[in-house]
Amino acid sequence: MKTHHLAKENSVLLHYLQQIRDIHIQKDSMRFRRNLERIGEVLSYELSKTLDFHPAQVTTPLGEKETRLVQDDIVICSVLRAGLPMHTGVLNYFDWAENSFISAYRYHTSDTEFEIIVEYLASPSLDNKTLILVDPMIASGHSMLATFQALNKVGLPRVIHLVSAIAAPEGIAYLEKHFPKETQLWVGDIDDHLNDHSYIVPGLGDAGDLSFGTKLQQ
Ligand code: URA
Repeated sequence: MKTHHLAKENSVLLHYLQQIRDIHIQKDSMRFRRNLERIGEVLSYELSKTLDFHPAQVTTPLGEKETRLVQDDIVICSVLRAGLPMHTGVLNYFDWAENSFISAYRYHTSDTEFEIIVEYLASPSLDNKTLILVDPMIASGHSMLATFQALNKVGLPRVIHLVSAIAAPEGIAYLEKHFPKETQLWVGDIDDHLNDHSYIVPGLGDAGDLSFGTKLQQ
């Protein structure tokens, strides 16, 4: 797997990452969602440079111009519910893409142990497509893999991109072990470690709750 760690370079992305982490700023859920959306947009722009392009022509009011356009048939897939704001950002940039939604949640078997339950999948065929799998937080990597495995029944993508705002090294190592080696990971920042509850440290807390409010524990 090839990992693109975008916070290593100076860019405006650092502002959006700082704001989703900040304990005060992140309380403004509209700003939090919009920042995740903006991160999805920046990562999509970077990712777009690695897609296949074909020659094309455009007619302006004054003449003709040769150009190049994306050739890939893109499917954006997000995990409900935390993935929704970043999904919007990715779709803002690849506005012609198809979309998949899947539900995955942690079912706690003890205070520190959980399984990933996948219940809902709405997807077009992935056969021969470019799959962009969106999850704002790659913690253990288990929900990303459970999602990918659930997608097996809707076809085999030609290319796989993973898009995430913040990842833990443990999650990246897990994905490296289980995803095809040509997979590319586009991540805003990579943090220190996971705590005993599989939260990313320093991370930002719970991206789903910060976007949409707290929920009853299952
Ligand atoms: N999901 C989150 O929202 N935050 C984490 O730190 C880990 C998983």
